[in-house]
Amino acid sequence: MDEKEFISSVLGFSEPWYIVGMRQVEDVIEIKLDYAGGTKFRCQICGKFCTVYDSKWRKYRHLDLWQYKTILNVHIPRIKCDCNCKRTTIQLPWTRSGSSFTQMMEMHILEMAKNGSISKQAKLLRITDTRMWRVIIYHTERCRKKAVFSFVTSLGIDETSKKGHNYLTNFVDLVKRKIMFIADGKDSGTVGAFSKDFVLHGGVKSRIINTTSDMSLAFECGIRREFENSKIVIDKFHVVKYFNDALNKTLRDDVKAGLDLKNTRYLWLMNRENLSEKQLKRFDCVSKRNCMTVRAYGMKLAMQEIYRLTDKEEAKGELRRLVGWLRRSRNVHMKKLAGTVVSHFENILNYFDDRLTNAVLEGLNNIVQSIKHTARGFRNCEYMKAICYLHCGAFEVTAL
Ligand SMILES: [Zn+2]
Repeated sequence: MDEKEFISSVLGFSEPWYIVGMRQVEDVIEIKLDYAGGTKFRCQICGKFCTVYDSKWRKYRHLDLWQYKTILNVHIPRIKCDCNCKRTTIQLPWTRSGSSFTQMMEMHILEMAKNGSISKQAKLLRITDTRMWRVIIYHTERCRKKAVFSFVTSLGIDETSKKGHNYLTNFVDLVKRKIMFIADGKDSGTVGAFSKDFVLHGGVKSRIINTTSDMSLAFECGIRREFENSKIVIDKFHVVKYFNDALNKTLRDDVKAGLDLKNTRYLWLMNRENLSEKQLKRFDCVSKRNCMTVRAYGMKLAMQEIYRLTDKEEAKGELRRLVGWLRRSRNVHMKKLAGTVVSHFENILNYFDDRLTNAVLEGLNNIVQSIKHTARGFRNCEYMKAICYLHCGAFEVTAL
């Protein structure tokens, strides 16, 4: 076996392609591939074998050979078939049309893209991040088109990381814990957009029996309109978040009123078990005060306690008692929260039927945040969507 045969076999080329030349310049190896003279190629439209009309040379980036960037410089034939008078370029077996990477290189790019920051990975691959993004977006969109949602019964809806005032809403298959659809915005129209897309992918609207969401009325409206059979479950993390928000506002009021609670925000919002020894000491000191913040903190703990209950009826009784406590308090933020809880009372309690949460989305947000920290961030929403689909899509993203 000579070196050309060896390289051909390593690269996996077979007839009619053969190597006509190889050279190495600095950090690049270029391999020239030609086709055997007189070869007929199949028309991609009608399947008939046709003779070559003309041809041109084109370069493709392949997987690196050792430490060298490897470029395939390929002589590509064009044919002119009777079925249409246009000359058609032959589809090469190792690449897709429109790409200057080989398919194996694109597979490699997608694998690398799953490892974190795109600009870092692009640097390792020695390509620009724009080219890397193009491959990611192309294949996520292509694979998403083929996704099937026929058996989805539980839906999770959540708005996700914003950039300025740009919101995205994720629609998640709660059983598979994967994202089916990402919509622009966070209004009730997003549910309509999802619903249309869901049906296009074989989804059966009447099969959706559970939907978790935050307390947004827009989502509730959309769910009632689009998914009539669905029960609405208010996501437990969102309920606790509302308590934390009210607690935070209370703390601000107390600080404004002159109480010595500065720099304690973290102590109230974190769970006790996540505090360091020093923080615990400080917390045990401030939490003995007689102030609104301490009582608001107690209310948040009470809500968290309710979520530990297993019986829906018991939870109902406790939630009612908690609402009473919020209402009787002289804390405007908690009173307001009582109103919110009452207006979503049944939907909050629906959690206790199947204990469904949007936890998968929290996990996703962590991935997205970590990528954001290590990269220059996402230059536009399309990039962000592609990355979410790549990591958590309800379909496999591959280059094949
Ligand atoms: Zn033809």
